Amino acid sequence: MTERQQERLKKERERAHRRQLRLQRLLFAGTLLCLAAAGLFLWAPWKKPDQTSGIPEAKEPVRGSESESRSVDSSPSDALPDGWLQIRLSEQACSEGTLVLVNRDYPFDPSLPRTVSVYENKTESYLVKDMILSVREDAMTALNRWMDDFAAETGKTDVNIVAGWRSYQDQVQLYENAVATKGQAHADAYLALPGHSEHHTGLAADLDTYDVQNGTSGGFDGDGAYAWAVEHAWEYGFIQRYPPQKSNITGINYESWHFRYVGLPHAWIMKTENLCLEEYVAELRNHPFSGEHLYTACQGKSYELYYCPKDRVIVPADGNYFISGNNVDGYIITICGSE
Ligand SMILES: [Zn+2]
Repeated sequence: MTERQQERLKKERERAHRRQLRLQRLLFAGTLLCLAAAGLFLWAPWKKPDQTSGIPEAKEPVRGSESESRSVDSSPSDALPDGWLQIRLSEQACSEGTLVLVNRDYPFDPSLPRTVSVYENKTESYLVKDMILSVREDAMTALNRWMDDFAAETGKTDVNIVAGWRSYQDQVQLYENAVATKGQAHADAYLALPGHSEHHTGLAADLDTYDVQNGTSGGFDGDGAYAWAVEHAWEYGFIQRYPPQKSNITGINYESWHFRYVGLPHAWIMKTENLCLEEYVAELRNHPFSGEHLYTACQGKSYELYYCPKDRVIVPADGNYFISGNNVDGYIITICGSE
């Protein structure tokens, strides 16, 4: 190769290198643009429901970790009707939301959830056992409204919250203490096996009543003035989780004091249809996306619900809706209609 040829080759290589650099820069900029567009696209359909309607908690639960872990499914989703979108959620998302079913068959992911201190967030309408007790934020808001209305209605401000979120270690200790002091049969009738406690979700609260004169706290039986709190619990998204007639299904004896936040319209449907959570989660499977959706209305709002298995989650491309995992095999999508 002559010197001139070598020189030309060198220049060609340099030009090629510069072209490659330009291409890389373009690709990088394109990727950034795509990511930004995808971010906007993903954010939009997860708009939270209108918070100004004044009805009890019809929101739920687009929380940080979930929204970061979801993505639009790019695989061709077999002929979805217009206005619907298939999304992919992380494995953990199935254990997030107000409809998670936790019982002796279905344990709860110990890394969840995030909770807030009841002591620091509560109103003056009720009491709390200590400064440590915590519940999930959505349950906290609903609890305040429930107890405020109960106090306004009855003049009673002595409901005492004695249990909320319970860690795995606390569950072990409680269970072992119950076995030691009251026997295995009692422990199994009233307590969940460690890892299977609904208190772990941060969505459950045990109510007590506090006797100011004696300085003692006694069981909440839901009688007398307290019947109002039981009767109206659904309006705030709460259910009495272990009703007496359902203990063969829930696996837990009647607990007049244990309330669970599921949100609206779910508490309303469960109450009117007389379903415990096990039955409700099973019933929702009868309403898949491709089948007949469930329509309901309460507190002046309309709702559309359907079930999606884990591997095929379909949501409206637009509009207000929220997703809850069932902690078993899929998700419940609740679309909030107009008032
Ligand atoms: Zn409880």
